[in-house]
Amino acid sequence: MKKIIQDLNYNQIEELVLSLGEKKFRAKQLYTGIMQGKNISQISDLSKAFREKLLQDYEDSAIEIEQTFYSSDGTEKYLFRLADGNLIEGVLMRYKYGNTQCISTQVGCRMGCKFCASTLGGLIRNLSSGEILSQILKVNALHGGTLQKRQVTNVVLMGSGEPFDNYTEVITFLKNVSAEGGICISPRNISLSTCGLVDKINKFCQEDIPLNLTISLHNTTDLERARTMPVANKWKISEILEACNNYFKKTGRRYIFEYSLIHGENCDKRHAEELIALLKGKPCHVNLIRLNEVKERNLAAADERAAQAFLATLTKGGLSATLRRQIGSDIGGACGQLRAGYLSGNSN
Ligand code: SAH
Repeated sequence: MKKIIQDLNYNQIEELVLSLGEKKFRAKQLYTGIMQGKNISQISDLSKAFREKLLQDYEDSAIEIEQTFYSSDGTEKYLFRLADGNLIEGVLMRYKYGNTQCISTQVGCRMGCKFCASTLGGLIRNLSSGEILSQILKVNALHGGTLQKRQVTNVVLMGSGEPFDNYTEVITFLKNVSAEGGICISPRNISLSTCGLVDKINKFCQEDIPLNLTISLHNTTDLERARTMPVANKWKISEILEACNNYFKKTGRRYIFEYSLIHGENCDKRHAEELIALLKGKPCHVNLIRLNEVKERNLAAADERAAQAFLATLTKGGLSATLRRQIGSDIGGACGQLRAGYLSGNSN
């Protein structure tokens, strides 16, 4: 497989340009073209001969949008094809304040959460930082966005994959996506969701990247959590809370817990009370969402009334909590519905 030019930062692009005998100012043209979501062959500021030289070692495009699915609520789901034929999915959600793109960090996932479609075929491979970044560059371009006026304003690392299971590439991506002169999305507009790899959360505290750290909790005791999340056999809830506290101490940023309401699993009154006991007084927010049902799994969503009652108990108990509405579920684009595929394998 050829290399991926979107893996390179500005300095690396400059080195590459000089090493190929081109003038330094070509680096800016190449970098800008890439950040505008263009394929190498489409960057017409550069000579054809130079583009051809680049194409000997680099893929013309890291990723292409193979298909777009449109939800009745305005959400769009994309099927992206990687240069090696693997397929990943992503979503663009429209809000009053801008457009939020949900991106993938791995093809598949090896965390094995029982409620999630992304993990059904296991982990196929990690994405490189440039493949992660290219999802945004392509969708921004698709919607007519530029580097001055972006059409993707917010990003969530909540597509397929566990971001902290692909730590190095995800950190490189986070640095490159916020770099001056590029697409320049601030970490404050980025949310990273992890199932709770405590060693990596603690490592992340040292990176000085002030994003919105989100943890998938989904239960209140280690024993019950392990029923749907195998990662609970490795890391305890108490260890997760300690790591979150470290993040707050280091960055001053509150953290968020994701809690998907699954009928008969995690949303009795007792669970709400235990959640209050665990989180009361902590600088955190709880994001509730009713489970999006995945056809291969026999887990059912909590009904709307149960979800409202759970929310009311948390709020009365002094927690900051909201119940998110489900969006994009008619196109299989809601949380936990994104899948991996290969070549023309349709994902639905
Ligand atoms: N691997 C990361 C990102 C996963 S997706 C993580 O575990 O956090 C983002 C969120 O969707 C996570 O909180 C995940 O637990 C949740 N999720 C997965 N499947 C879901 C489903 N079927 N219904 C609702 N939420 C789900």
